[in-house]
Amino acid sequence: MTRFFAWLAGLLAALAAAQTPSRPPRAVTDEEVRRVHRSALLIDTHNDVAGLTLRGFDIGAHNAKGHTDLARLKQGGVGAVFFAVYVPASAVQENRSAHRALEAFDSVRRDIAARYPRDFALALSAADIEAARRAGRIAVLMGVEGGHAIEDSLRLLRSYYDLGARYLTLTHVNSNNWADSSGDENQPGAKRHHGLTAFGREVIAEMNRLGMIADVSHVSDKTFWDVLAVSRAPVFASHSSCRALANMPRNLSDEMIVALARQGGVVQINFGCEFLSQKSVDTSPWTNPELAARARASRQQALELQARMTRATLADVVAHIRHVTELAGVEAVGIGTDFDGVSCVPMGLEDYSKMPALTRALLEDGFSAEQIAMIYGGNTLRLMRAVERAANR
Ligand SMILES: [Zn+2]
Repeated sequence: MTRFFAWLAGLLAALAAAQTPSRPPRAVTDEEVRRVHRSALLIDTHNDVAGLTLRGFDIGAHNAKGHTDLARLKQGGVGAVFFAVYVPASAVQENRSAHRALEAFDSVRRDIAARYPRDFALALSAADIEAARRAGRIAVLMGVEGGHAIEDSLRLLRSYYDLGARYLTLTHVNSNNWADSSGDENQPGAKRHHGLTAFGREVIAEMNRLGMIADVSHVSDKTFWDVLAVSRAPVFASHSSCRALANMPRNLSDEMIVALARQGGVVQINFGCEFLSQKSVDTSPWTNPELAARARASRQQALELQARMTRATLADVVAHIRHVTELAGVEAVGIGTDFDGVSCVPMGLEDYSKMPALTRALLEDGFSAEQIAMIYGGNTLRLMRAVERAANR
């Protein structure tokens, strides 16, 4: 029944939101943008640049093809980044999941945090993020992406916590031995369990005990509901947006957003075009099945299709933030860019250096400085503190 009421509440909120007349943009000065942007602690809960540093990219150098480097993080006034310790699905077949996870941990710790100690500071808690900010450094955090990284071992899960992981994305595009992914729903041969298995529930319990956030980005809808039912602490979607605006399985439905928010959770808006705009979903070789088949045929074809897809815009990001705010409250939304993990980024928000443009757009849309501070980092800090309090180590 509760799920029905959550759905009903979500539907009513969405109807109310749809009837809100569009406001003319508020006039905003450059000085106000600077002041509001500087006063907010901007936390990005998902970045994939460790995939590049792992292969030798120097975060202090210009990232010509990507979105993340030290100069642009500073230009954008970024306060903290969760770097993904990403383990591709292919590592399972190669029996190298833990190997790959350990190498990615080393890259974040050594090639990012330790290599530029005046600019970055390793952070393991909400308090650490605030301390890094006071010291004028960018806080470096880690989240493991892909539950197969633990190789079905709570001992590995605990070891990853000890290395600094503060969240685990329960699946990647592949279902693992204990949780279903949104990525292989209709794939023949995919190992699926209808949500979380009994061991999957043990994984969540151990994450709660450790003080590690359960990340529901990438999981199937049934897994999402199972996680919400068993987790003692709030959970988040580290890099997902709203299905109501861009209908694809990686995004959350209104019903899911309302339920997540009710437990203190946060939807961290993903900046990938396909996560933001229905036109991008329809024209992308990643989300349009017909185009995907053509893209698989040749790499050249894939690149051509990619170049021709409809890009999202800065306004789309504002629309997603507005949607979650009207549906579930401003305390339910945050930022999880997926920079260097997505190939198409919005016009006007191409990399971290453009973040002040988002601040301007949010102010113009009527968000207050206090609300922007919550969206940019306050909500994530609140969630982290709740997860830390629920821990029982
Ligand atoms: Zn991802």
